[in-house]
Amino acid sequence: MAVTTHKIEKNLQRIRDNVAEACQRTRRHPDEVGLIAVTKSVDLDTIKNLLDAGVTELAESRAQNLTQRAEELAAYASRRRTPLPAPVHWHMVGHLQRNKVKSILPVVSAVHSVDSLRLAEELQDRAEKLDQHVSVFLQVNCSQEEQKYGCAVGAAAHLGEMIASMDNLNLVGLMTMGPLTEDPNESRMAFARCRELFEDMRTERLGGDHFRHLSMGMSSDYVPAVEEGATLLRIGSALFE
Ligand SMILES: *Cc1c(COP(=O)(O)O)cnc(C)c1O
Repeated sequence: MAVTTHKIEKNLQRIRDNVAEACQRTRRHPDEVGLIAVTKSVDLDTIKNLLDAGVTELAESRAQNLTQRAEELAAYASRRRTPLPAPVHWHMVGHLQRNKVKSILPVVSAVHSVDSLRLAEELQDRAEKLDQHVSVFLQVNCSQEEQKYGCAVGAAAHLGEMIASMDNLNLVGLMTMGPLTEDPNESRMAFARCRELFEDMRTERLGGDHFRHLSMGMSSDYVPAVEEGATLLRIGSALFE
């Protein structure tokens, strides 16, 4: 069953209220914080309702789902008598295998999960062949946990420098996943670590003017993420439940 536009709007309002309060506590402007809707758990009708609610940034965590969703939505858009309310951008937020790069490039605006030189090189090669530029985030493992994905904090600056030198990739920022915990202080510490790394890299002018985003915060931890400087939240369940 599709989640109704009304329900999505109510959830969006609650999220925006929480973001506004977190911004007020930390003297940030709420306009600095964008929202990406992670659609991996919902159907196409729910995605249409999301668009009606004004959301334009959509994300998937699996390459195959992303291409399929993007194609379905494009087909729906071309069948409509009126254009979509606004252009839609797709973000790849989950682990990306190199053999899936080719299939997602034509439909993706940003890849949040670049965590190795080999993946970056594959993105660069394929993007160059398509004469395309793609925005990428360096995914960093900022929690103390053993997480499978994300480069180590100590390796980030060097890897970031190499990515920033690739002609068809725009290094737009860092991405991190909060730790799997109910403890907001643990989440906060991981996000703070990511923000410090981000500021260090920015001081080095890495990535130039493109380098300005911190993609962190999901349904369970977006409040501490905003308080620690997130500029892009990746939210799924809190929009749909
Ligand atoms: C699923 C997912 C999200 C959103 O998770 P929710 O808890 O549903 O908000 C964000 N980022 C990534 C990488 C994900 O896979």
